[in-house]
Amino acid sequence: MTQKDTNSGSSSAPQESEIDADKLNEKYREERDKRIRDDGNEQYLQFEDQFAQYMDDPYVEPGFKRAPLSDEVDVVIIGGGFGGLLAAARLREAGVKDIRVIEKGGDFGGTWYWNRYPGIACDIESYIYLPLLEEVGYMPVEKYSKGDEIFAHSQAIGKKYDLYKDACFQTEVTELNWDEDFARWTVETNHGDKMRARFVCMSNGPLNKPKLPGIPGIQEYKGHAFHTSRWDYDYTGGDMYGKLDGLKDKVVGIIGTGATAVQCVPHLGEGAKELFVFQRTPSSVDFRNNKPTDTQWAETLEPGWHQHRMNNFNSLLSGGFESEDLVDDGWTDIVGNMMELLKKKTDGAMDIDALFGMMEKADHLKMEEIRGRVEGEVANQDDAAVLKPYYRQFCKRPCFHDDYLATYNKPSVHIVDTDGKGVERITEKGVVVAGVEYPVDCLIYSTGFEVGTAYTRRAGYEIYGRGGISLGEKWDGGIATLHGLHSRGFPNLFIMGTAQTAFTANYPHALSEQGINIAYTVKHAIDNDIRTLEASEAAEAKWVETIISKARMGTRFFEACTPGYYNNEGKPGERSGQDGFYGGSSDEFFRLMKSWREEGSLEGLELEVAQS
Ligand code: NDP
Repeated sequence: MTQKDTNSGSSSAPQESEIDADKLNEKYREERDKRIRDDGNEQYLQFEDQFAQYMDDPYVEPGFKRAPLSDEVDVVIIGGGFGGLLAAARLREAGVKDIRVIEKGGDFGGTWYWNRYPGIACDIESYIYLPLLEEVGYMPVEKYSKGDEIFAHSQAIGKKYDLYKDACFQTEVTELNWDEDFARWTVETNHGDKMRARFVCMSNGPLNKPKLPGIPGIQEYKGHAFHTSRWDYDYTGGDMYGKLDGLKDKVVGIIGTGATAVQCVPHLGEGAKELFVFQRTPSSVDFRNNKPTDTQWAETLEPGWHQHRMNNFNSLLSGGFESEDLVDDGWTDIVGNMMELLKKKTDGAMDIDALFGMMEKADHLKMEEIRGRVEGEVANQDDAAVLKPYYRQFCKRPCFHDDYLATYNKPSVHIVDTDGKGVERITEKGVVVAGVEYPVDCLIYSTGFEVGTAYTRRAGYEIYGRGGISLGEKWDGGIATLHGLHSRGFPNLFIMGTAQTAFTANYPHALSEQGINIAYTVKHAIDNDIRTLEASEAAEAKWVETIISKARMGTRFFEACTPGYYNNEGKPGERSGQDGFYGGSSDEFFRLMKSWREEGSLEGLELEVAQS
């Protein structure tokens, strides 16, 4: 018995013969060109000066103090989100007892700690997204979990693996220094800590630093404002389930229409007296079809089902062949289209260009379906026209929601499209688009998070390795690692993230694989009295070469994409290839790492054995 969906809500799919690929590609180019800007990533602002307070943690009492720590642990893990939790869990399973998680927030959860906006949910299926389900003994209540369930699951992982007892919450790392004499890292924090660690694992999160749009006049706005990642329920009333009764006499503006806005706009539309949604690029919004977990199905699951289901989804999204699509939702649907086209093709093997063409065709079919959905759900066809996305589906983060589009049918909700230009200006009173001022009582920035800026800027601390060289300095000319995890000159340091490693839509799967590798390596080092380990010069150089050469196919795809954080705001190139993810499939990368572990010698790492 399998838990399968039959995408029952799908609008009628267009036929292959109805697609005019040249015309669509021309339209995609036009829409992309409107959005290309010289300043790329520089268009955004950091939360500094008058905006610094927007980043205060709304979930803890201010003024937390504790005595500084100067002790030593085996492993310090920076970040208590899924990455940190997965590394810690796998280390515990490998028998490593002395672990300390350092986390800026007041609890575990990472993204799911900070983001508590109304409507927050995960649109990746819960049975593959939530980590360690079998280990924790938990079955999600729905196919797509809401934010509070995921946050609670993070806490459950913390409890299951006994991570609370030594964790440092509300603590920000300020600097890491490698001590050559003792072969230890010194970890300094904003509480005056100077703790030592034999190994450090950095899991800062890929979307941890909220950003503001650099719109002229943004400093002048006098109304109430906040970023979605620090939702101000004191002002809006209600909670993540909506009922925002504080807004019933308020005119609200929201800038941004990405995955976050798609989830919170329906609640704002419900709660606000009037809502203006300022759009630069529409999201692709497919069906979600959430439903409660079938408990009978859950009872049939055999041990190992969780990894099997994650692998099945990942293999399909990597373009692999699977006899069954277990998750069977909007994410795997595009692959379904591709398979249908392949089945029809009878004239022998395909070269790379033919495969590329086939993928384009499947994508066009999917996006036509998504545009058709907009037409079907949004009554006013002028609004529908601007809500239709014109780009390849994976140029931007695809969204899945069943109420977002229909929200625009409310007379109090208005889409203000900026024709790809973005908001023109912000004034004391509100927002200006095409010379028209829209006064608002409250302005919500749903403008996302920094991606593609320097690693250490996003981390919020510098890392000084052998000979005092900083990671920021080393990576100034481009990221250099072995497997994304190790960087030469920074011994006993593990980097969890997206650079030079696998990327998958189900991000916790990639983190899980990284956690397995870290635990394997640390255990090997402890068992074999290894004092230091670091990437060899040759292995690192070879990995960088691999990353650059494998990025080429992706670069061809991303160059034609509308700007966004997937393509370095419209500026993909050699550097973003090098700083990006592993360009082979994630499936391929996971298999590569498995073979690396099975080979058993920590190939590519230089090892220094402790003197007895
Ligand atoms: P995004 O970066 O996806 O969206 C930012 C939005 O702000 C975009 O619509 C962008 O437009 C817009 N914007 C930026 N500058 C301006 C401007 N000057 N004028 C007008 N609009 C502007 O951030 P999100 O917070 O929505 O999502 C971030 C990521 O978080 C997602 O991509 C996803 O990975 C993750 N997420 C996952 C969810 C899940 O269910 N798993 C749910 C929510 C988020 P433009 O597109 O033109 O750049």
